[in-house]
Amino acid sequence: DFGFTELIEAQPDAIFRLNSLYSQDEDPSKVNMSIGAYRDDTGRPWILPVVKKATEIVEKDPNFNHEYMPIAGYGRFTKGAAEILFKPNEQLLKEDRICSIQSVSGTGANFTAARFLAEHYVRKSGAAVYISNPTWPVHRTIWESVNVKVETYPYWDAKNRRFDFEGTMDVMKSASEGSIFLLHACAHNPTGMDPTREQWKSMFEVLLARKHLVVFDIAYQGFASGDLDRDSWALNEFAKFDRDFFVCQSFAKNMGLYGERTGCLHYVAKNNDVKSKMQSVLCLIQRSTISNPPAYGARIAAEILNNPELFEQWKGDLRTMSSRINEMRRHLRDSLVALKTPGTWDHITEQIGMFSYTGLTPAQVQFCQEKYHLYFSANGRISMAGLNSSNVDHVAKAFDHAVREVN
Ligand code: PLP
Repeated sequence: DFGFTELIEAQPDAIFRLNSLYSQDEDPSKVNMSIGAYRDDTGRPWILPVVKKATEIVEKDPNFNHEYMPIAGYGRFTKGAAEILFKPNEQLLKEDRICSIQSVSGTGANFTAARFLAEHYVRKSGAAVYISNPTWPVHRTIWESVNVKVETYPYWDAKNRRFDFEGTMDVMKSASEGSIFLLHACAHNPTGMDPTREQWKSMFEVLLARKHLVVFDIAYQGFASGDLDRDSWALNEFAKFDRDFFVCQSFAKNMGLYGERTGCLHYVAKNNDVKSKMQSVLCLIQRSTISNPPAYGARIAAEILNNPELFEQWKGDLRTMSSRINEMRRHLRDSLVALKTPGTWDHITEQIGMFSYTGLTPAQVQFCQEKYHLYFSANGRISMAGLNSSNVDHVAKAFDHAVREVN
């Protein structure tokens, strides 16, 4: 009898738990700002018009079926995925140095990178991985699951509500040579605060000098600023230095393909020979984790990435999403300023992407939930997508009350 009687119950995922509390709340003024998924101005999930069109094309194709994908995924998709990341560095694409393997969305890309590095890098070097503090919580669980030591760099300067550039640089300088650094390429989750271009350049100098291994996580390309190339600037800047690195890419947010689990892991190799070897090793890992990746979302994404007309339409849809989010940022900030809510609120419009780190304390967050039926993380992170023109004033009023009432 194995029984497993000594099992300790695991904590439910905080975000999914908030989501379910929100669903159970019957108050009409409730607002869900927990999960990072886009909503339109009526608060409903939005199927991108371009995705609708691509879906029709995919399903009308007489060759459409439910066969397995190759282990490395759908080539038409992975090639298009690499092209939108590295368009400003066409040379890399021409030299055929990018190894791309389809993954179970961004989470799967992070996992495959972690598993590869655990087996082929950390086992020999004993390197630790440095993740930002705070970060998307799954980063830590993924790296711990492959037994890599997790360290942090101090990303958020809570006092000044800004990116802690000096703190991050200090850790990059003092970490053992050859450590792994996981960087959010754009729209940092949860803070929404990105380094400036000058700060990125300084960080790259240190990362290169200290021979750290860089893994970029890009879950918001095009969603953050509305411009694909602007959001991939940091990793393309790094690519200029001729150092190999990894990129974990998700199409959950920028194509609204959340549940279709559409993503890709890329490795930028020194040359085509290493690229081919890496491809074979990553396929071996893929085979024993998921065998082969999900097909449906990859087919839709491939259509969008390879059909020039759809690609243009996609860019328009990206602008629709990012401009609505930015409008909500302005509205929330202006309402808090108009209410003379104690504190400064410019960080809300300085941040980009899905999330805003409001600076509210756990007790204030609790107050907002109990008194105003607002659901968001205890760390004060709100998903901007949960705001719309009907609820943003209610949210501002709640924040104002919480800040004045609760210390
Ligand atoms: N990485 C970051 C930083 C994220 O914020 C997310 C989603 O919230 C992901 C990766 C992966 O998401 P998915 O697995 O849905 O693509």
